[in-house]
Amino acid sequence: MGKRFLGVGLLLVIIGGICFNSTSQPAIAPGESSSIPILMYHKVSPDPRAGGLGLRVPPRNFEIQMKLLSNLGYQSVNLDDVVAYLRDGRPLPDKPVVITFDDGYRDNFYWARPILQKYGFRATIFLVSDQIGKTNAWDESRGFPRNSLLREEEIRTMLGEGFQFGSHSKTHLRLTGLEESKAREQITGSRGALETTLGIPVNYFCYPYGKYNKAVVNIVRESGYTAALTTAQGQVRKGDNIFALKRIRITGKYNKGDFLRLLNDTGEKL
Ligand SMILES: [Zn+2]
Repeated sequence: MGKRFLGVGLLLVIIGGICFNSTSQPAIAPGESSSIPILMYHKVSPDPRAGGLGLRVPPRNFEIQMKLLSNLGYQSVNLDDVVAYLRDGRPLPDKPVVITFDDGYRDNFYWARPILQKYGFRATIFLVSDQIGKTNAWDESRGFPRNSLLREEEIRTMLGEGFQFGSHSKTHLRLTGLEESKAREQITGSRGALETTLGIPVNYFCYPYGKYNKAVVNIVRESGYTAALTTAQGQVRKGDNIFALKRIRITGKYNKGDFLRLLNDTGEKL
């Protein structure tokens, strides 16, 4: 009887130990970044004629968001830092954030840039190489407003100020619907064109409309890009595929609370 009681007691201690260990250990070692929010913006403009709030964040909201990041102690890192962390485990600041803009709208220069500079944040802009200095022609057939895109001299100014640029294809086509040779032209061609025009290495690709598949990823990899970004919602964490990095879409409809919730939503089940 006494022996049996001892046996049950020992079992309880073992189970207790297992449960205690699994709940008491921190999921993340102190100081180690667990997940990285890569914010995805498009237009930053106060003008409703520039487009709906799905893709347009009014500068007032953008400033509130940058101020919040700054007050909360976030530090902007670039994609080189993220790749070094994911591939080699190189440490990141405690609260890293990556700020990205798709399409290369001219309003990024006039509205977003001064606000980013005010708070000391860096950002990466994904350009549509054939459309530099032109407009978002790919949206016209869908009835979206026409927007001016960054001009070469504006991109050069931003380069000198520490902004990074990546490729968002040549003409913003859905790559998954293209023949391989056409997809290759969009992916490889845009890299070559941007590197020649701007005289900078172009190491990051951003899939137009967030559309990609295995074949597209292979071309991106073969073209010499280091990593690629999607529109899939979520934070980046160790072990993620660097050719399918998730982001957090920020629209003009979000208030402060929405922004904070998205920023903190690591998707972790504690
Ligand atoms: Zn786009």
